[in-house]
Amino acid sequence: MVRPDSRSTCKYIFVTGGVVSSLGKGIASATIGCLLESHGLKVANQKFDPYLNVDPGTMSPFQHGEVFVTDDGAETDLDLGHYERFTGATLSRLNNVTTGQIYSTVIEKERRGEYLGKTVQVVPHVTDEIKSRVYKLASLGYDVVITEIGGTVGDIESLPFLEAIRQVPYDVGRANVLYVHLTLVPYIRAAGELKTKPTQHSVKEMREIGIQPDVLLCRTEHHFGDDVRDKIALFCNVATDSVFQGEDVDDVYKIPLSYHAQGLDTLLMRKLNYEVTGEPDLEGWHKLAERMKAMNGGTVRIGFVGKYINLQDAYKSVYEALRHAGYTLGVNVEIVKIEAEELPPDELRELLREMDGILIPGGFGTRGIEGKITAAGMAREAGIPYFGICLGMQVAVVEFARNVCALAGAQSTEIDSDSPHPVIDIMAEQKSIDTMGGTMRLGAYECQLKPGTEAHKAYGRDLISERHRHRYEVNNKYLPQMNEAGLVVSGVNERTGLVEMIELPDHPWFVGCQFHPEFKSKPLAPHPLFLGFVNAAKERMKAKQG
Ligand code: GLN
Repeated sequence: MVRPDSRSTCKYIFVTGGVVSSLGKGIASATIGCLLESHGLKVANQKFDPYLNVDPGTMSPFQHGEVFVTDDGAETDLDLGHYERFTGATLSRLNNVTTGQIYSTVIEKERRGEYLGKTVQVVPHVTDEIKSRVYKLASLGYDVVITEIGGTVGDIESLPFLEAIRQVPYDVGRANVLYVHLTLVPYIRAAGELKTKPTQHSVKEMREIGIQPDVLLCRTEHHFGDDVRDKIALFCNVATDSVFQGEDVDDVYKIPLSYHAQGLDTLLMRKLNYEVTGEPDLEGWHKLAERMKAMNGGTVRIGFVGKYINLQDAYKSVYEALRHAGYTLGVNVEIVKIEAEELPPDELRELLREMDGILIPGGFGTRGIEGKITAAGMAREAGIPYFGICLGMQVAVVEFARNVCALAGAQSTEIDSDSPHPVIDIMAEQKSIDTMGGTMRLGAYECQLKPGTEAHKAYGRDLISERHRHRYEVNNKYLPQMNEAGLVVSGVNERTGLVEMIELPDHPWFVGCQFHPEFKSKPLAPHPLFLGFVNAAKERMKAKQG
């Protein structure tokens, strides 16, 4: 029998989704975290993903979107990005659990003989393993753990997770558990009506597996009145004050205040038996809303040269980080997505010349690489602000080696293992690894910044820590030559001697980093490098306007 520590006072919220996918369960869960935190509670968001991959690290962005990396080096679902952006929590591998992880643990235990000769089954062994992941997180001293169950009610693969969360009240007491269900109330244009039936069906499906939702968050394109709310409450067995509307908004960061205005935070507090003492601290979110209204600094255009630009979610955190910087600087950031491999170099240059800044994000593999090198060269020569993240820094180094240091054929060995000048090369300890999952340089590493550089100016500190996800590195053998030609190494990891940041001094803003700063940017605390970059782009935009 799995139980939380008997001293634990943690409470549990489980967020499920019904009717259709893509309703924004991740944002809804993050919002719940944000609102409870504003009442002074210590919260942790957690995501259950019902697929058999151990983590999304081995999945193509076409399948999954961005892989979000935590400080402790876990490759996780992009919903963890929402959780970190909406709350103050720093998450770890405990915050993302997949079916793959659950089954590998159960099978390992079986092989070790830990089940003492029993038949190993989905109930109770798999469900116990799932619950133990919730209780483990709870044991870290949180007031509330908010667990989102991926997928939609009715999916075969999420059944063990739903059965596990159904059992939680038995372990911890019903008063310490809340079930929040996110549904859709579609508008049927031909009838001119909002329809509650899909919500009724979805709740019925939840009840069939033994879970009666306490709170309904209803996504809707149109505001609905008391009549619709009453109908939902009556037929779904919930109190009228527990039916909330998730109306479409033009910016996800407006959602916490929208639910607060409907009283979601006080209802959750009351239902969890917490006393509400005074107003919640939502000052940062109110200020952000004001800033959004007052965006009068114009629009900066960022040329975004990537491989998966047709996918909305592949570079989620980078897009978000650009917007965060935009709010603070009072500018709209327009992201002009450019498929590097499709354009002839001259056309690409012409297009990029129009931009106020050029950003090359992380990436893997050969496709579009020469286009990216051309883009980095264009930024360098034309004095266009440039931000190279991970692969984006590597291509900037390759371009500099080829065209400034005259190292013909310079390349990363990821692209050309026979390059005469492997200026980006695989780390010695990576060479012997032949498995794919979790084997990159992952998670937080320190970086010492060089005083007087743009990097140091942006952070205002000597020592920083940022998250990594890569295999290849700047080849230090070429550093003397490249330094001589003007490339400045502005950040290094002192323990390993690995290059973390580079920049070009005689340029408005040309910065590359081997790490992924986007993972640590928040709407209420934009990342310093994104601020530096968008600010340089803003200067260029203003200069162009004369
Ligand atoms: N493919 C490069 C490497 O593995 C860059 C990785 C990235 O951009 N995340 O080093």
